Amino acid sequence: MFVEQTLDNCIKCNICVTECPVAAVTDKFPGPKYEGPQAARFRQPNQPLTDASVDYCSGCRVCNMVCPTGVRIAEINARARADMVRKGAFGWRARLRNNLLARSELLGKIGQPIAPLANALLQNPLGRLAAELTLGIARHAPLPAFSRERFTAWYRAHQATSAPKGKVVYFHGCSTEYYEPRVGRAAVRVLEANGFEVIIPPQNCCGLPLLSNGEFDAARGYHRRNVNSLVEYARQGIPIVGTSTSCTLTLKEEAPELLDAFDEESRLVAEQTFDLSEFLLNLHARGELNTEFRPITLRAVYHPPCQYRAHRVGRPSLELLRLIPGLDIVESQAACCGIAGTYGFKAEKYEIAMQVGQPLFDLVRATGGPIAICDSETCRWQITHGSGVPSVHPIELLALAYGYEPEGVLSQLNL
Ligand code: SF4
Ligand code: SF4
Repeated sequence: MFVEQTLDNCIKCNICVTECPVAAVTDKFPGPKYEGPQAARFRQPNQPLTDASVDYCSGCRVCNMVCPTGVRIAEINARARADMVRKGAFGWRARLRNNLLARSELLGKIGQPIAPLANALLQNPLGRLAAELTLGIARHAPLPAFSRERFTAWYRAHQATSAPKGKVVYFHGCSTEYYEPRVGRAAVRVLEANGFEVIIPPQNCCGLPLLSNGEFDAARGYHRRNVNSLVEYARQGIPIVGTSTSCTLTLKEEAPELLDAFDEESRLVAEQTFDLSEFLLNLHARGELNTEFRPITLRAVYHPPCQYRAHRVGRPSLELLRLIPGLDIVESQAACCGIAGTYGFKAEKYEIAMQVGQPLFDLVRATGGPIAICDSETCRWQITHGSGVPSVHPIELLALAYGYEPEGVLSQLNL
């Protein structure tokens, strides 16, 4: 069913309103029922905009998950924001800021080659204050540090092991390429430990930051180029896996649905795309996962990112982590960490994002472990920012359990 057709399913039960984490902490957002199915009836192509409060929807999809009749509220709101962009509802300053934050690939290409200088500038309090006053980028928001080495540079020098089980395409995404290449290294090692050859074709940003900022035309170009690069592998039945739940969700569902990209090639790529933990858990279900894990004695909170709800695959990372002896995982039931992609980086939304994430930050601190675990990069940065506890991707713990050298914060824990 098309996104807009679902609005007629609304039975006005208000469940989404009681569960929406943004409506719970601010009066600026009237809530999912009002913004989604109600306001959508008044959004007509040649009519003036209803009101601008829909821009306070973070896109966390809690509403979609709890709605008993399947109204696609988050997607209705995303389309409404895109309509605002088309009709010029955002001033030039907001458009510039949103486009800067949403161009993660461009930022990476500019910042990564000059990582030490770029990182110094990004952490400079005066520079951050100026960025908030001029562009509206929240001065305290958790901007990540550029890596000194790109993930693909490491991969080109990497010696692959034998691959009796066949090939897998890895979609690394911008965060792994420019900020956290250790996540990609862990992914390659885990896949190789399970007998796969890892292929990394040319790829662009998945386009989700642009989609969630209403910049649909720019997102369409990224999606098309990714589909062109990936479709030959999909045709051969080679799985496409990713460590970023945002990227894989975009290839699977968000881009096709929001951009009406229902062509055969997009469909093929969507069908062959898997979150990496989903893929590994499927292997386990078939008895094909290498389970020779060494123990890791550690207690930590695992927070499933919001995008996993839209994947509708349960909590595969949690199930994989529970296969590692010694790991004591505390499962987060928090609705959202608050950051929601680029949402919490915006000055007018920063405090909302921090309030939304507060229950999770409290849980991480109360648990007392040396790390937190989460599959989404922006969520990891937000959890660390809000709780003071470093965060890692589940795949990093799996790589460690297979006996690979720990990297990043894991290398400092004497595990
Ligand atoms: S996507 Fe999240 S913030 Fe937006 S309406 Fe739904 S629950 Fe609320
Ligand atoms: S949960 Fe679904 S059916 Fe209930 S008010 Fe919200 S959109 Fe309507």
